[in-house]
Amino acid sequence: MGCCHYYAPAEGGDEAFSVDVSAITFGAGVLREAGDHARARGLRRVALMSDPVLAGLEHVAVARASLEQAGLDVVLYDEVRVEPTDESFLAAARFARDGEFDGFVSVGGGSVIDTCKAANLYSSHPAEFLTYVNAPIGEGRPVPGPLKPHIACPTTSGTGSECTGIAIFDLLSMKAKTGIVSRRLRPSMALVDPDCTATLPRNVVAASGFDVLSHALESYTALAYTRRKPAARPSLRPMSQGANPWSDLGCREALRIAGEHLVRAVNDAGDSEARSQLMWAATLAGIAFGNAGVHAPHGMSYSVAGLVRDFHPDGYPANGAIVPHGMSVIVNAPSVFRFTASACPERHLEAAAWLGAETRGATQAEAAGVLSERLIELMRATDMPNGISGVGYGVPDIPALAEGAYPQRRLLDNAPLPIGRGELDKLYRDALAYW
Ligand SMILES: [Zn+2]
Repeated sequence: MGCCHYYAPAEGGDEAFSVDVSAITFGAGVLREAGDHARARGLRRVALMSDPVLAGLEHVAVARASLEQAGLDVVLYDEVRVEPTDESFLAAARFARDGEFDGFVSVGGGSVIDTCKAANLYSSHPAEFLTYVNAPIGEGRPVPGPLKPHIACPTTSGTGSECTGIAIFDLLSMKAKTGIVSRRLRPSMALVDPDCTATLPRNVVAASGFDVLSHALESYTALAYTRRKPAARPSLRPMSQGANPWSDLGCREALRIAGEHLVRAVNDAGDSEARSQLMWAATLAGIAFGNAGVHAPHGMSYSVAGLVRDFHPDGYPANGAIVPHGMSVIVNAPSVFRFTASACPERHLEAAAWLGAETRGATQAEAAGVLSERLIELMRATDMPNGISGVGYGVPDIPALAEGAYPQRRLLDNAPLPIGRGELDKLYRDALAYW
């Protein structure tokens, strides 16, 4: 490892890191295994959760048939909202409570898997909605006990939600994106079937692919766990504990795969090897950021997505303006990594090399330029928006974007350099356009 001093003990910092392992089954066609895995976990009656579009497509039908063939009683919930809200979480939770299920199966993207986590939580441990929501917006109370089994089946190669204990939603009353974070929320099992990505539109593969890439890059360059103040009790050590040797493993391989396969997977729907590899990278990056945490590109993404006016890329359902999650993240990334490079230039150079940049002879002072230029190359090769101006923002929007990002402390404080209001302002300014 080029950068082992990154974990040198630091005064007042934590001395240990924790690893939460995900149970994963990966392979073409594994959706058909859902029934057997559910039965092996003792399930008899399950809620099968999806969104209205996916519910009419093959993947949900395959999972449902597998569950029914295994003798399970299956009730479909297809009202998951893409970009879920507190209301849509609660609606799913009511369904879960009324249905008296002994477990859950989710088939879909991050919105579906996150909604299923919330439905499982609030039906297993009923409470006022804000009880478990991250402070300072919610009370951030710990989840009091285990949830019911949840088998998560991702249909896009992006969020990694199947490997994390995080559920993200929009709190409508505050127009803020926030989340619920707990080890208890992590699905009991992930069934990752790369066949699901074969029919995804180009822009969906690109946006979710950059989400994968950024999960890995942010986890790899996050503040070292040795520099984060220890939790009040060891059992309260956060999942966003900072970069650590375990998550480094997943990051490295995810970045290498993204460097080699992302552009191919986007530009050639028939390249099943590239799409399958990207799905594996998504899983690896999910394991990594589920144990390290992401930082500023994600922290800044929520206001980029939330304040959208009229941007609407091809490939997404035609109901209203949307900046897809991966796009809202990657438009910030070159600006952020230019800024953070000075905190750990070796790590930024290593990451650039895995992503395919020429780094031989590059000095530490050049790390910021080398990594951000490589990101820009990849964005251009896949027709990503040109910075935040590419999704409709201009200089007058910067104060509102920065104001929206500032409360995302769980994410911003995981960056390797301090990020306050002034830094956010500058980071958005530098993210306006890259070419
Ligand atoms: Zn993400």
